[in-house]
Amino acid sequence: MTVEDVLRETKAKVRATLPPSVDLTDVEFEGALLVIYTKHPEKFADMSDTVRHLAKILQKRIIIRPDPSVLQPIDESEKKIKSILPEDVELQNIYWEPDIGEVTIEVAKPGLAIGPGGSVLNEIKRAIGWTPKIQRAPPLPSKTVQEIRGYIRQMAEERKQFLRIVGRRLHRGTSTTQKPWVRMSALGAFREVGRSCSMLQTQDSKVLIDCGVKFNQDDPETPYIHTGEVLPFESIDAVVVTHAHLDHMGLVPLLFRLGFNGPIYCTPPTRDLMTLLQVDYLKVAAANGVRPPYTSDHIRQCIKQTITLNYGDTTDISPDVRLTLYNAGHILGSSVAHFHVGDGLYNVAWTGDIKYERTWLFNPAQNRFPRLEAVIMESTYGGAQDFQPSRKTASTGVKDIVERTLKKKGSVLFPVFAVGRSQEMMIVLEYLMRTEQIPKVPVYLDGMIWEATAIHTAYPEYLNNQLRAQIFQQGENPLLSDIFQRVDSYDKRQSIIDSTEPCVVLATSGMMTGGPVMEYLKAWAPDERHALVFCGFQADGTLGRRIQRGQRDLPVSEGPRPEQTRTVRINMDVDTVDGFSGHSDRRQLMNYIANMDPRPDRIFLGHGEESKCIELASALHRKFGAETRALMNLESVRFR
Ligand SMILES: [Zn+2]
Ligand SMILES: [Zn+2]
Repeated sequence: MTVEDVLRETKAKVRATLPPSVDLTDVEFEGALLVIYTKHPEKFADMSDTVRHLAKILQKRIIIRPDPSVLQPIDESEKKIKSILPEDVELQNIYWEPDIGEVTIEVAKPGLAIGPGGSVLNEIKRAIGWTPKIQRAPPLPSKTVQEIRGYIRQMAEERKQFLRIVGRRLHRGTSTTQKPWVRMSALGAFREVGRSCSMLQTQDSKVLIDCGVKFNQDDPETPYIHTGEVLPFESIDAVVVTHAHLDHMGLVPLLFRLGFNGPIYCTPPTRDLMTLLQVDYLKVAAANGVRPPYTSDHIRQCIKQTITLNYGDTTDISPDVRLTLYNAGHILGSSVAHFHVGDGLYNVAWTGDIKYERTWLFNPAQNRFPRLEAVIMESTYGGAQDFQPSRKTASTGVKDIVERTLKKKGSVLFPVFAVGRSQEMMIVLEYLMRTEQIPKVPVYLDGMIWEATAIHTAYPEYLNNQLRAQIFQQGENPLLSDIFQRVDSYDKRQSIIDSTEPCVVLATSGMMTGGPVMEYLKAWAPDERHALVFCGFQADGTLGRRIQRGQRDLPVSEGPRPEQTRTVRINMDVDTVDGFSGHSDRRQLMNYIANMDPRPDRIFLGHGEESKCIELASALHRKFGAETRALMNLESVRFR
C-alpha cells in the first residue's frame, strides 16, 4: 500500500466514525499525529469520547484543527481569551499562528488556565474557533527558551511542511518480502566515555541513538558514523537524544551538514539545554581558534526539526519502531529511551546516563517497562570498587565546609558545570540556609549557570516529587530564592572578589579549564580564610585535577610573553565533596537491573572505561545469569 492509499483509507474511517453533520475539510499526517481540519471545531469540544474511539481504531494520536475560514479575528479573540481565563493564571503573552489555527497562551499557572478536565480550554476553543495551547511562562526569563519558542513560531509554516513529510515517511509501510529482523550497531562510547552513538536497525528502519563528541588533547573525536550501515545519512529515519550532555548530543547538528534531514526526538528541556550547550560549544571553539564541525545554521535546523516528547508519551518514529522516553534521573529532561519494534517483535531500551537514587533534583531512573528483552546500559562507575557516598553524606560534607569557612570570615568557591551540578548545589545551599544549618549569605552564580537555572524553572514537572510539591502546592521554588544573585558583568565580579563580606560563589568551568572561576581563584588563592571545594569529577590533565592532587603553585599569565607569567601560591583550603555524581555507582547500577521489571535476557554495557564495562558485565552475569557483553565500538548485535 502506498502512502496515498493509507491516507485515503484513514480518511474513509474518519468520515465513517464522525457524525455526518461535522464538516471535514482536510485530513493529514503531521509526524505521527493525524490532523483533522474542520469547519466545526466547536462540535469536537463535546465529542471527546468519539475522538478517543477513533484514535483507538486508527492507533493514532489525533489533533483537531479549525479550518482557516472559521477563525475569529485576532483582536476579538484576544478580548474573549482574557475574559474567559481566571484572573490568577497570570497571563504573560499570547501568540497567534494563523496557518495552523493555533494560539499559544503563556501563563504562570498552566493548571488553572486549562481548568478541571480541560473545561477552561474548551470554553476558549468554543468562543474563538482557534485551538488554544497553554504554555508555562518561565518564572526566570530565559533567553534560550524565549529564542527557541520565538524561532519555532516564526518557522511555523516550514515546520508544518516538515511534519507532513515526516508523517508520510512514517506511513510508507513495511516490507513483506523479508522475515523481520532487528539489530544494533555500537558506533561510539563502547569501552570508553564520550561520543555516545548507537544505531537500531530493522529491515525497514534506521534509528540513531545519540551522537556525541569526545574531547581529546588534540582533535575532538567523532563516533563511527561513516560506516556502511549508517550511510547514506538521508536514509536515517530518526535521531533520538537521551540527554543534553555534549558526549551525547554535541555532534547532532553535524548530521544535518552531512545530509540527514529527518526528525530529532527528545524531551522539551533536552531540546532547550542542547541548544544552549551547542551554541556555547561553537563559541568556545571560535575562542580557541578551532574550526567547529558545524555552524549555527545547523543548530537552527536541529531546533526546527526536533519533535519533543514528554516522559511516558509513546510515538511512532518509523514504520515499525515506537519510542517512549522515561525519566533517567541524570540531568533535567534526561531519558531512558525504550523502543518497541514491530507488533510485539522486540523491545529494547537505551539507558543513556542514569542515576538510580533520588537526588536533590530528580526522581531515581525508571526501570519499569511494559515489555523488555534487552537493555544497553552505562558503566561509568561500574568497576568493582566504584562505590560513592550517598547524597545525605555529601550534603553534610558541604554543610561542614561552608560552616567552617564562614566562621573564619572566608568565602567558598565551587567550580561547577552550568547544567545539573550547579542547580543541585543551589538546592542544597538554599535548604541549609533556610533550615538555619549554615548562616545566610549571598550565593553568586557566575557563567552560564543563571541561564541553565532559568531553563530548570521553565520545566518544574521534570523535577522530583518533593520539589514539585514544594513548587506547585506551596508556591515556593527554591531555585528562585533571593539568596541567589547573578554575576553578569566584569564590575559585579570584581566587587565580589574585592569585598570582605563572606559569600558563596558557584562558577564555571567545572574542571577549572577556564571561565570565570579562574578570576576568583587567582584573587582568593593566597588567602587561607577562603575555601575551594570540588564537587564534581575532575578529568586527568585539567587544572582542577592537579590542584585536587596537591599542586599548590598556580601559574597566572598576564600577557602573551613568558616573563608575564607569575606564580600564585594556593593557601586557601582545598576540599573535595564526593557523592554528588549524576551517575549511578556500582551498587546502584546492580540494583537498577535487580529491580528492573521485566528483567531483560540480554544486557549490553557501554559508556565506561574498558575495565569498568567488563567488570560490570561479568558481575551482572554472575548475579542474574543474563547474557551480558561489554560491546566494542563497531560491533553489531542481532536481536531477532
Ligand atoms: Zn550525561
Ligand atoms: Zn555521558
